[in-house]
Amino acid sequence: MDLIKDGWFTEKCHLWPGQALSLQVEEVLYNKKSQYQDITVFRSKTYGNVLVLDGVIQCTERDEFAYQEMIAYLPLLSHPSPKKVLIIGGGDGGVLREVVKCPMVESVIQCEIDEDVINASKKFLPGMAKGFLSPKLTLHIGDGFEFMRRNQDVFDIIITDSSDPVGPAESLFKKSYYQLMKEALRNGGILCSQGECQWLHLELIKEMQTFCKTLFPVVEYAYSTIPTYPSGQIGYMLCSKNPETNFQEPMKTLSKEEIESLNLKYYNPEIHRASFILPEFARKVLDEA
Ligand code: SAM
Repeated sequence: MDLIKDGWFTEKCHLWPGQALSLQVEEVLYNKKSQYQDITVFRSKTYGNVLVLDGVIQCTERDEFAYQEMIAYLPLLSHPSPKKVLIIGGGDGGVLREVVKCPMVESVIQCEIDEDVINASKKFLPGMAKGFLSPKLTLHIGDGFEFMRRNQDVFDIIITDSSDPVGPAESLFKKSYYQLMKEALRNGGILCSQGECQWLHLELIKEMQTFCKTLFPVVEYAYSTIPTYPSGQIGYMLCSKNPETNFQEPMKTLSKEEIESLNLKYYNPEIHRASFILPEFARKVLDEA
């Protein structure tokens, strides 16, 4: 609770030194030290309920859709027939909510390490956690890295919605994890992972992109804007086993009516294409990778 002082929560972390984001707190709704991490949920003044793990904001009710929609629809709409999907992490349920809405998806397995995050989200973030009600879902509680080892040639899409590369999610940013994902994907399979922020972690992104290119014929980095992630931005690492994949052009272009009926608030075909256009400082570094 020492993260909250004088009614303000402040997110400080060694991964983004010298900067911090603060949100005004109305009420702390939940705080528990689980087996893996410190879990806090508070009601903020202007961003709705906020989930915080080990002092780092995971999602807020006001802006979560910017991330959840993009990490789900960038890969789903880059695949001709995404029937079987695996989600690693994602304990708030928001990515799952988006994936199960997609009519082409027949079944989803989700592997989240911390059941306490799921339970807290069901209680305090019902708009995201409603994904857990889907009959398409099989939920598995366990470590995503270990789960990946046990699956070969099974999935069309793997989405890794992890926290940052410290604590339980550290292994999910390693080459060995990407090697396991490659094996778990079917022919033509696609993965999309939380890919950190180009303002803060360009070297990490470059390192990841470099090892991804040794494993997959097509690798791209995209991003979206989102006020409550560090520096207001979050990226996505996309890899395909199909050399013909063109991530920058959706395989299916959603109409205005489809966007409306899927209740999408951030994703549209134009932002899909635009999310791969990088500012010059990042393009230079990542083009060399
Ligand atoms: N979108 C958020 C972000 O970028 O900060 C991440 C949200 S989601 C809540 C992250 C989830 O990953 C957490 O619930 C955490 O418990 C889970 N997680 C972390 N490490 C994991 C692992 N090794 N296997 C499975 N789930 C993991």
